[in-house]
This record gives sequence, C-alpha cells and structure tokens, in this order.
Amino acid sequence: MFTDSHSHTLPYSPDARMTIDELVAKAKSLGIPRVGITEHYEIDMIYPDDEVMLFDLDEYDREFLKWQSDAPQDLTLLKGIEFGYQSHTARAIDIIASCHDFDVVILSNHNFRGEDVYFSKIVYDVPLKERHAEYIGIMAEMCENCDNFDIAAHYDYINRYNPDDLAVVRYEDCPSEFDRFFEALITKNKSLEINTSSINSLIKKKNPSAMPDPAILKRYQEMGGSMITLSSDAHCAEALAQHFDITAEYLKSLGFKENTYFIKHVPHREAL
Ligand SMILES: [Zn+2]
Ligand SMILES: [Zn+2]
Repeated sequence: MFTDSHSHTLPYSPDARMTIDELVAKAKSLGIPRVGITEHYEIDMIYPDDEVMLFDLDEYDREFLKWQSDAPQDLTLLKGIEFGYQSHTARAIDIIASCHDFDVVILSNHNFRGEDVYFSKIVYDVPLKERHAEYIGIMAEMCENCDNFDIAAHYDYINRYNPDDLAVVRYEDCPSEFDRFFEALITKNKSLEINTSSINSLIKKKNPSAMPDPAILKRYQEMGGSMITLSSDAHCAEALAQHFDITAEYLKSLGFKENTYFIKHVPHREAL
C-alpha cells in the first residue's frame, strides 16, 4: 500500500468525521506505511453559522508529538496542514508555514469568487470553460505567489460538487491556465496532487471519465513534470487510501513511476 499524504481529523478539521485513533486503526488495517494529516487552515474565511477553519497551531504541534509517539511502529504520521489560498493571504501562508516544523504543506484553492465551492450557489451558473479557466488560473497564481509548500491539491475541486454528473475538468478547457500552473509547479519543484476524493465523486456519479484527463497529465509530463502525490483527502476512515490501487495502475499506464511524499519538506519516492 502507498503513502496517503492528505487526510483530516476531528477536532482540528471541523468537517472531518474521524478521530486520530480511528484514522490510525484504519491505516493499520490497510497496511498503509505513512499518512499525512493535513488539517484545514483557512485564513480570512467565514463559513455558514460563523464557523471558521482555524486552530491553535502551537497546541497542534504539541498534540502531534503525542500522536506520533502513540502510533504503531510500522505507521509514520506525517505532520501536515492544508492552507486554503486567497490572493491576499499568500504572505501569511508562507510565514505560518515556515514558523512550524511541518513535514508536508498542502496548498488548496477552495474558493470561487469569494465563496467556498462546497457552499457556493453561483459557481455552476458560470459557463464551464469560463469557470474552469478562472479556477485553474487561481491555482497558477497560488503556486506563483507562495513558496513554502510541497503539494498543490485537487486542481479538480471546482468540479467535485457539480450537479452535472457528466462534467469533468479537461486540459482543453483552459490550456494556457494549465500551462501556467504547471510552469510554476515544475520551476519550484512542487508536487501535483492526484486526489482520489475527486475521483470518488465521479465514480459515484457513474461518470465514464472518473480518472484524471490524460491530456492534463501528458502535458504536465511534456513540460517536465514528474512529481505526483496520491492523496485520498479522507475526512472519514472508510475514505483512507480509497481507489489507490486503480489510480496507481492508471498513472502507471501514462508513464508515471513513483508516488512522492514529503518528510520535513524533502521529497521521497515510492514505486507505484
Ligand atoms: Zn481541500
Ligand atoms: Zn483536504
């Protein structure tokens, strides 16, 4: 089984539905060697019911040491965080990321025109090509503006809650935005996440193209990109490492050979 670099637990991620003990038990039962725990940290975002996704980072540092010392010997817990990017928070993200000893820092864009895609009422009123071009353009800007991160998460988050079951994110929707995104990732030696929660949502919709668009991944390779990170983005125990085997087979069929995970921001590779 492969390393899973992206997961969420209670109480640090309020939208999670598993505790650290439940995550550890599931990881152990699946034989996963390493799990990245990457709690949500959304600067300057207020959710419905005045909820925020922020937590005490010093307390997290202390708790994580306990989690690591309590974990089974054959399971490594990688200390991580998932920052939600907005243009005006780039500097804050870079500063916070450098002030704590994370193994892995994930950058995400959960927003479209100021609202989280999960809650947004307007996002799917915008025509698909315009919507995807704008979203991938912000992914590019995020990777250009931030330096202290390891992985750019779920480029396909914009489509995850789309009520149109047949819609997917394709390279042809916005080639110049994808190229800009990949240019920043490759220049900065960061990893492109392959997010199996996004794949799972397409499988549940019975979308015949549940795997990432091959044109996206071929273009990434063509531009010199080889670093990819398999991530479940699990919020509950059942989702940990979900669809990893079929996704790894798919990635191998496109010529990718390794899954990259991070320890103290240093990339490590394991065979797919
Ligand atoms: Zn996310
Ligand atoms: Zn996540």
